[in-house]
Amino acid sequence: MSAAFFSATYAEARRRFLEAARERAAAVESHRHARQGAEGEELALDTALLGPADADRLFIVSSGTHGAEGFSGSACQLALLNDELSRRAAERGIALLLIHAVNPFGFSHLKRTNEDNIDLNRNFNDFSQPYPANPVYEEIHPLLVPSAWPPSEENEAKLAAAMVRLAGQRSPGVSSGQDRHPDGLFYAGTGPSWSNRAIRSILQRYGRNRRHLAWIDVHTGLGPYGHGEKIFGQHDAETTARAKAWWGQDLIVATAAESVSPRTAGYMMACSREECPGTAITHSTMEYGTVPNAEVRHALRGEAWLAGHPDAPADRAAAIRRAVRDAFFVDADDWKGMILGQFRAFALQTINGLSSS
Ligand SMILES: [Zn+2]
Repeated sequence: MSAAFFSATYAEARRRFLEAARERAAAVESHRHARQGAEGEELALDTALLGPADADRLFIVSSGTHGAEGFSGSACQLALLNDELSRRAAERGIALLLIHAVNPFGFSHLKRTNEDNIDLNRNFNDFSQPYPANPVYEEIHPLLVPSAWPPSEENEAKLAAAMVRLAGQRSPGVSSGQDRHPDGLFYAGTGPSWSNRAIRSILQRYGRNRRHLAWIDVHTGLGPYGHGEKIFGQHDAETTARAKAWWGQDLIVATAAESVSPRTAGYMMACSREECPGTAITHSTMEYGTVPNAEVRHALRGEAWLAGHPDAPADRAAAIRRAVRDAFFVDADDWKGMILGQFRAFALQTINGLSSS
């Protein structure tokens, strides 16, 4: 049953999300993207608001911040639209806002980054300040994004040696983000991306003047197969205590040594503080494991290489896209069941937490 909520393409995921939202009489809005999808389809960031619109508590679930990671987030949203849990939230006076495909271009074209090769979870910065320097990334960039694809054996050997040498460098680490290589991985951009502006306008419209806002952003590609790590990126003691009370002691504080997450600057949910001043905010990233780290990294290197070689042969481009999809989405029933089961528990805890706040 749970497998049925997973779609095979962005276009299918979007159609099913909009149909289910309309069936639930949700208030739907679409932010059209200027570019086209992989099948020539319209691209958009869609939102669906359920429950009492003027509720003083809002629960946000977002998907597809990292493009192709959206298969799982979209399935979680579709499952929630079909779940009595979302009705229970409304009965308790909680509004539910589903943000579908934060990065629709990457979702459709099977990229983690957006139309400008920007990693959206590095892009929500104060661009009047320089992005934190990342000497580790500087050192490894020429090896990560080779001139030829697939990479040569020599390149692979040098990269492997560099990764061993740099292992343990977490702050900043390879994936912490960088703003010097637009053709590289984890590129922060030099200004607010299209998705950044859309998300801020959505928060201004739906998030302001709420008493409490909870937000789960669904990701994949880090950690053990099928396990959902609840990553917590806020820093003050009061919010941390509340988050642990809601979500349990397995909540991982992103700055803690055991987290699968790198230390980063410019992650999306941090902007909720700026856009919703005076609102209590409790947010978490749900990060589901897929395949081993080395496979994910190889897929991302291919994605970056392809972004710099738009004239690549069609079969090579298709193989790279396929590898990105497989790095972030496991097409197996056991994995899909783990994704939705853990998400449901997380959503229930969030609704219970908001109810008591
Ligand atoms: Zn992600």
